[in-house]
Amino acid sequence: MTLCDKCSSKAIIYQRYSGMHLCQAHFDEDVHRKIRESLRRTQLFGRGERVAVGLSGGKDSATLLYVLKNMFSRRRDIDFVAIIIDEGQGVAQARLISQMLKVPSVISSMHGATGTRVKADLLIKTAQENGADVLATGHNLDDEAQEVFLKFLQGDVEGLLQTSAGRRDKDPIPWIKPLRRVPEKETRLYAITHGLYHHRSECCTLGWKLEVKRHLNGFESRHPGTKYSLLRSLERILLLKEGPINGAKPLSANGK
Ligand SMILES: [Zn+2]
Repeated sequence: MTLCDKCSSKAIIYQRYSGMHLCQAHFDEDVHRKIRESLRRTQLFGRGERVAVGLSGGKDSATLLYVLKNMFSRRRDIDFVAIIIDEGQGVAQARLISQMLKVPSVISSMHGATGTRVKADLLIKTAQENGADVLATGHNLDDEAQEVFLKFLQGDVEGLLQTSAGRRDKDPIPWIKPLRRVPEKETRLYAITHGLYHHRSECCTLGWKLEVKRHLNGFESRHPGTKYSLLRSLERILLLKEGPINGAKPLSANGK
């Protein structure tokens, strides 16, 4: 049995990028720390907020809502609304999670439209209509690193900066991604170990994005920490452009 490097309990994960074996309690603590750090950088939550959380029924958004709800359980000035985009799948699971976490939900339909941009616009619009001050989505480190990699490959600097800011210029309310420092493998483990997720596979990455995802996973397995490096490179570019955010230091290779 492999033991946790922080205590003597049984380890449930080995993080190659940090060199640490962690037990359930220390793994949870590590995930929460990364989320708190991402939230701190948004400079929101100092006062009351109504937070809309995009809920898909998948592991990432379920983890996000669960952690945020627990993290702010004592803050009576912060409340949540789950926004479920009806794309034909995941709706029942998403509703189940919002009921389980006692968060009111709103279902919004794509009306047959497709595409990530349409979905993002609909999320923002529905969040606003429901009086939200901020929209949070469950994008994880892999999503962010893939996006950064893709934007670099496409030479899309403007798109790159908007990715890093977690917000597009025209968005009327801030759009935050609190899981952006948590690797996909860890959001999955968190969701499974907290009873939020049971499926083993999720669709659908296609075309160039799939190629980028495979290459990045290959880099990561040969050079642990690659995904954090990509996110860090972006944060440094932002730092040059806008100056330090709330005195925060750039991310280090092991996500700290
Ligand atoms: Zn431990």
